[in-house]
Amino acid sequence: MQRRRFWGWGYENAGPEPSELAAVAAALGPLLGMQDVQRTPPPSLEELELRPPRVSAPPALQRIITGDAFERAAHSYGKSYRDLVRAFRRDFSNPPDLVAVPENEDDIRALLDFCASSQIAVIPYGGGSSVCGGVEPDVGAAFAGTLSLDLRRLDRVLEIDRTSRAARIQAGVLGPRLEQQLAPAGLSLRHFPQSFEFSSLGGWIATRSGGHFATLYTHIDELVESLRLVTPIGTVETRRLPGSGAGPAPERLFIGSEGVLGVIVEAWMRIFERPQFRASFSARFGDFVGGAEVVRQLAQSGLHPANCRLLDPLEALLNGAGSGDRAVLLVGFESADHPLDAWLTRALELSRAAGGEVAEDAIRLRRDEPGERQGDAGAWRSAFLRAPYLRDELVALGVFVETFETAVTWDRFRVLYEAVLGAAHEAGGGAGHKCVVTCRITHAYADGVAPYFTVLAPARRGAELEQWTDVKTAITGAMLRHGGTTTHHHAIGRDFLPFYQRERSDGFSLALTAAKRALDPTGVLNPGVLLDSGP
Ligand SMILES: Cc1cc2nc3c(=O)[nH]c(=O)nc-3n(C[C@H](O)[C@H](O)[C@H](O)COP(=O)(O)OP(=O)(O)OC[C@H]3O[C@@H](n4cnc5c(N)ncnc54)[C@H](O)[C@@H]3O)c2cc1C
Repeated sequence: MQRRRFWGWGYENAGPEPSELAAVAAALGPLLGMQDVQRTPPPSLEELELRPPRVSAPPALQRIITGDAFERAAHSYGKSYRDLVRAFRRDFSNPPDLVAVPENEDDIRALLDFCASSQIAVIPYGGGSSVCGGVEPDVGAAFAGTLSLDLRRLDRVLEIDRTSRAARIQAGVLGPRLEQQLAPAGLSLRHFPQSFEFSSLGGWIATRSGGHFATLYTHIDELVESLRLVTPIGTVETRRLPGSGAGPAPERLFIGSEGVLGVIVEAWMRIFERPQFRASFSARFGDFVGGAEVVRQLAQSGLHPANCRLLDPLEALLNGAGSGDRAVLLVGFESADHPLDAWLTRALELSRAAGGEVAEDAIRLRRDEPGERQGDAGAWRSAFLRAPYLRDELVALGVFVETFETAVTWDRFRVLYEAVLGAAHEAGGGAGHKCVVTCRITHAYADGVAPYFTVLAPARRGAELEQWTDVKTAITGAMLRHGGTTTHHHAIGRDFLPFYQRERSDGFSLALTAAKRALDPTGVLNPGVLLDSGP
């Protein structure tokens, strides 16, 4: 069994090659003006002094509850920049008191009963890839203790309804194991967030995650047919329906509820035949905003490309998909049913008409072959999958590295884009420090777009968390001022709550609070996430 790192991304024995690390360290001079960088080694378990658990498991639950130091350390944080900074500081001062690994729904019911009657906060935990403080047991002083409820043992595809093309799947399954179980039937959920390797179905649903479909099925929401949850007052199950006009949609109350209303235990998911036909191309544009105009046209064309990602020149360069002087647009179509020649032809027409340069060898039209895995798209894809490992290494080298994403209607896109670039440079740089800001478009809609910014700067050693707050406040403030949302697909957690509170209406806050009180009367489920903390 490979063991995952308790402090960061991936398996203990995986990670970048020494040559990759040397290349990263060497690039920091020219890119960020950082010379003689010092690498902080990752923490070891022996270096940590974990606070003794403040509560203990009742005998009946000891089978599924542990106070093991590795498990407690591994459940202390998610995988955000703030989390990594504190891990590298060896700051594990607030671990969960207990970690539970239930085997079934009855176990979860018993755990919720125990926690509700003992005033112990429960933090549902899927893959632990939260980047917004969603799994951190930071619940305030009103609770006797905290329990991280890890769903990893609920990891099976239970049933496949081939006729309706749907599958009943347990919530704790991580991406690769989910796909492994669907593959023999020629099926796939086709939901591939960048965190796919170490994130779970329940986590995707609880956070409304965004997958690889750049248009149409951008969020997991569209793939959920029905849900089953265990709440402190009992089980809630929604009906399997392709659509319904019977009042507000019940499953939509729970999709995005981030563990505050109940524990998602399984879901019927809409699934797909594995694609056989693929078509793709990449186009180069003089500037990012010009490329974005083609993304708008594609999103409004009804062609529904599976991939429609625009990288600004530097983003393309850093991901090996361009030379750094042009924006690169990656477009891909996929189908299990029909050839895609007509779709490709029309998308090429739109791109070229808007001044996009498309080299003949950048066009691929294949059957049964992953056409996207070569050329610009292939380079971008492999860099995309390696990025989380390299991100941890950058933090070790003292680089501030964080991503900020949003969504905005097309009419306000350009102003928002420029305002965010300005805010990012101002807050991320300063005091003679270089700051690099890149942008890519990750998802596109007929009425708007989701831009995704990456900020790289020398970290203010010792004051990284303050630096994060400054940059986050400046960038998300600019996003909200210019019509954007706090997040397009990274969820709210604890870290983004102040921004979320600025964008939601009072009436909706009241309704959400009332739902929370009704389903979780003692307030033990993930306190401080989505709503202010407090029993
Ligand atoms: C490198 C990296 C890349 C990422 N890329 C993407 C991306 O491409 N798209 C994207 O959308 N996000 C991305 N994320 C963010 C993160 O992966 C998503 O939010 C993901 O959906 C979280 O899933 P998880 O299983 O890891 O959930 P966790 O981190 O374990 O939990 C997230 C939240 O959901 C709650 N929760 C988890 N499971 C359940 C359950 N069964 N029932 C109720 N509540 C539950 C938790 O309490 C917590 O509030 C990325 C993160 C990292 C670190």
